Amino acid sequence: YDADYLHVYTYKETTLISDAFNQMLGRLKKLDDSRQEFVSNVSHELKTPLTSMKVLSDSLLSQEEVPVELYREFMGDLSEEIERENKIINDLLSLVKMDKTAAAMNIQSENINELIEKILKRLQPLASEANVEVVYESFRPVTAEVDEVKLSLAISNLVENAIKYNRENGWVHVSLNADHKYVYIEVADSGIGIPETETEHIFERFYRVDKSHSREIGGTGLGLSIARNAVVMHRGAIKVFSQPGEGTTFSVRIPINYAG
Ligand code: ADP
Repeated sequence: YDADYLHVYTYKETTLISDAFNQMLGRLKKLDDSRQEFVSNVSHELKTPLTSMKVLSDSLLSQEEVPVELYREFMGDLSEEIERENKIINDLLSLVKMDKTAAAMNIQSENINELIEKILKRLQPLASEANVEVVYESFRPVTAEVDEVKLSLAISNLVENAIKYNRENGWVHVSLNADHKYVYIEVADSGIGIPETETEHIFERFYRVDKSHSREIGGTGLGLSIARNAVVMHRGAIKVFSQPGEGTTFSVRIPINYAG
């Protein structure tokens, strides 16, 4: 053997190489697991309303004469399931769209006060229906370089949740502030709150606190992952503080200049 070509690895080197290799394998496996989990969650979530629709329509079809009240009740239930399916698909599309355009952020200088006011106006009917008062407080005019569609999606989801998970005659307080570097947006509510053990999970796709209760309120478990994606894509940060039974505050921080 020519000694120049033959490098005999020391025991230490071999261990280092195999450690690095195992680490890489572990990471790849984790990524693959989370993809598989996502796909199986999506399939499950999409199938649930479909199964209900099938049961409802089959049981109507199997009856010779259906009293009109029963017919109405079933059609009402069917309509609700369709609405739920629609919401899941829309949320999924928002997520997928965001993944795809991760590289292509559509950044423009935007008036953030106007952006928030527009969102609150759109959500006012939801708030009125829930008997929740939404108050907006802006500490200064703020202009920042953002992707309007994505940031709006993030804020809408936070405000929508603050209304949904509130109490009768509750309030939502939205505030906007800025310094020379960052925009600060806070969405605080007087709602049901989130137990501390759950706060680390709520940003996961499809995760919902207390399934049975959330089920009543309605949602897909995708809103907060959409919100976090959108904020992270602005190189921002999102945090949650909550006191069960008292309320929850989400705070978002986004750089004023996208390029840094
Ligand atoms: P959903 O479609 O269920 O609202 P999200 O991803 O937006 O999904 O939120 C995940 C879960 O976090 C919700 O199901 C709810 O349990 C909890 N949550 C989110 N926002 C609030 C809030 N403002 N107050 C209390 N719980 C909240």
